[in-house]
Amino acid sequence: MLSNLQQQPADALLALIKLHNSDPRADKIDLGVGVYRTGQGETPVFGAIKAAEKKLVETQDSKAYLGPEGDMAFVEALMPYIFGKANPTMDGRIEGMQTPGGTGSLRLAIAMAKRAGVKRLIVGKPSWPNHNQICADLGLEVLEFSHATAEGTPDMNALRGAVAAAEGSDAILLHGCCHNPTGIDYSNDEWDEIAGLLAEKGILPIIDLAYQGLGNGMEEDAYGVRRVLAAVAEAIVCYSCDKNFGLYRDRVGALYCMAADKAELVKIMSNGHALARANWSQPPDHGGAAVRLILEDEALTAQWLDELDQMRERMRQVRAKLAEAGKTGGVDLSPIGGQNGLFSIIPFTPEQVQAMREKHGVYFAGSGRINVAGLTTGNIDRFIAAVADVTA
Ligand code: PMP
Repeated sequence: MLSNLQQQPADALLALIKLHNSDPRADKIDLGVGVYRTGQGETPVFGAIKAAEKKLVETQDSKAYLGPEGDMAFVEALMPYIFGKANPTMDGRIEGMQTPGGTGSLRLAIAMAKRAGVKRLIVGKPSWPNHNQICADLGLEVLEFSHATAEGTPDMNALRGAVAAAEGSDAILLHGCCHNPTGIDYSNDEWDEIAGLLAEKGILPIIDLAYQGLGNGMEEDAYGVRRVLAAVAEAIVCYSCDKNFGLYRDRVGALYCMAADKAELVKIMSNGHALARANWSQPPDHGGAAVRLILEDEALTAQWLDELDQMRERMRQVRAKLAEAGKTGGVDLSPIGGQNGLFSIIPFTPEQVQAMREKHGVYFAGSGRINVAGLTTGNIDRFIAAVADVTA
């Protein structure tokens, strides 16, 4: 029976990691994998997480099951950061549950949307490939619109057109901040318009917030989510703590639903719980518990926010340095300075991507997506020179 299965293509990024690992050059540069790196090229555990984990080991008295919703104190502790301190539950209309990472949250959100009768998901192109893969696995059609213009700004005309052409049974997926893979985010004015468009059309927004705090700040990066939720009747927010708490492999995320009223919310969340039960039963606890311990402790919260500020500041410096290089060979690196988060796309041809890898030992996805955090004071000049060389 199992021999009926067809060979699946290897994940392109994992294949890239293998290639990078087998390259003997000492000065090779990895801009592929989507993790933050320090100026020394490391992805360390946050100090605040280490302290919280220590506390967890000392104080945790049971590892008995919690239930499909996971650690609700963790879920609730995040809400003021996402939805604002003034009214984090939107008068009882928002509730959440813990999920295995942002991916688990997206899986649940899209499955819930499908159960609710959503037929198609409108997604900007390019997007994080897993959005399409989850839709394909769940049998949901994806409708694509262009996310960005050639000038490196959000393609608002394409978005307006996609929303105007949407049907009542469509949902739309938007990146809350730090768009992956382009780094091109909506401005506050654009979010204002998007909120109005979605409210008028009445289609379900699913907002993927996987990088809060890595763009312009925790509050700043929540602008779009808050603006849309204030305008529409219902929405889903898929949250990841894997970047802003550096917890990647511990799989820490949450799903939040906003309903028209409290009674609706109970019914909606019961579907989230049932789907979680059928998928993974319960989310892993450890990382979420560490985040909760941080958020329950003022000093640890301050330490975490400080570490997050340092990450963001470093990425801003790398972006500024690339922007300063301006026109390099045949490409202009200046738009990268105004983009947000871990990623940006450089419009390389496939041959140029290959030349970057083979001639210069610089590894990144075939799409031209680079992880800006992979650049350091030690390698950035060499990177800029390599870009100039292959695009000349
Ligand atoms: N959404 C986007 C846009 C992402 O880039 C990622 C991670 N690469 C995720 C969601 C999910 O993150 P995780 O499952 O690792 O929490």
